[in-house]
Amino acid sequence: MRSAKLSLVLRHLRDHGPRSRARLATDLDLTRSAASALVAELSDLGLVRAAGIERGGLGRPGTSVELDGATVCGIGAELNVHHVAALALDLSGRVVAEHRLGIDAQQESVEQVLDRLVGLIRRTDDDVRAAGGYTVAATVGVAGLIDRPREVLTVAPNLRWRDVPVGAELRARLGAPYAVSIENEGNLAAIAEALPGDPNRQDILVIFGEVGVGGGIVAGGRLLRGHQGYAGEFGHMIVDPRGRRCGCGRVGCWETVSGLRALLDAAADPEDAVRDPALSLDDRLAELNRRADLGDTRTIAALDSVGSWVGIGSAMLTNALNPSAIVLSGYFAEIGRHMRPAIEEQLQAGVLAPHAGGTRVEFSTLGFTAAVRGGATVALDAVFDDPTVVALQRADALLGGAR
Ligand SMILES: [Zn+2]
Repeated sequence: MRSAKLSLVLRHLRDHGPRSRARLATDLDLTRSAASALVAELSDLGLVRAAGIERGGLGRPGTSVELDGATVCGIGAELNVHHVAALALDLSGRVVAEHRLGIDAQQESVEQVLDRLVGLIRRTDDDVRAAGGYTVAATVGVAGLIDRPREVLTVAPNLRWRDVPVGAELRARLGAPYAVSIENEGNLAAIAEALPGDPNRQDILVIFGEVGVGGGIVAGGRLLRGHQGYAGEFGHMIVDPRGRRCGCGRVGCWETVSGLRALLDAAADPEDAVRDPALSLDDRLAELNRRADLGDTRTIAALDSVGSWVGIGSAMLTNALNPSAIVLSGYFAEIGRHMRPAIEEQLQAGVLAPHAGGTRVEFSTLGFTAAVRGGATVALDAVFDDPTVVALQRADALLGGAR
């Protein structure tokens, strides 16, 4: 009961910003003394602190309280075909540390890739502790199907991994004093876009494109994981049964026509620098943007063709789910401005409801950090769900984090 009330206050401060104890009492239907006691307890846990003076409203001005971001951090990490990454967010949503490393997962062993990822998570945790904080949990997004109860990566066509117990492997390597969990990276990217307190971001579809295309569904502010946790595998809707073979073995999956490989194949010959995996993806996409800006016909035709396919799939999903926004993330966000006309044309043409059911096409501003931000957000959920979980780790951190 106690932790539920603490959770209520902490979430309210996250979603609605700093406010006085009196205002918290009114907002949450608590007595003034109950609100003060809860704030005092959250302050003892190092989770809230005094902000400024709040004026206006009824009664005397009161000192407002806000989330104390400084010490408690969640780590989000990502394991993808071309990169591994890790990022730490503090309780107030500030980025404390961020690391990213280009890899070629298809050319390296599972062990090598996991070792690299663990190295980045360790560096991120070191940064958190160097800044005077501590890590409360880490959530790792993986580019593949995750059996959540077993924490096993079932199938990852683009990594070419099958049945890897990623959760146990990471925990064994890290030996960390904080909880480590795994999720599908598309789900994490979706959670990162569902901004707390924003009414236009509570029913959204997030489509995340890299070599593979995945995503997540947020309905009423909550992630829709489906019966076994496999929802959001948009990339494997079969849209072109006579088309190309997908990494999953089927023919004509949506990602074969809307993924990064489809774009690069259409935009450039094999020896072209934009198809050189040794160059960073950011640089290759920047080059394609440059060519499109200069009016290069082959680049524009490629963006138009891939954009049409993105729109065709988006229309199918919009007919099924009627989101307020389709948020395009990953490589789409980097280069999507050149695809937007083709996407919107197909969306208008393909959705039964007038004006595409009010669904807007938006581009993520989180870039390639969407999945790691979502991971850090999920890691911090442990604190918002039960603020008392930090008590032990805080004591340990105050003692110097002996480890
Ligand atoms: Zn497929």
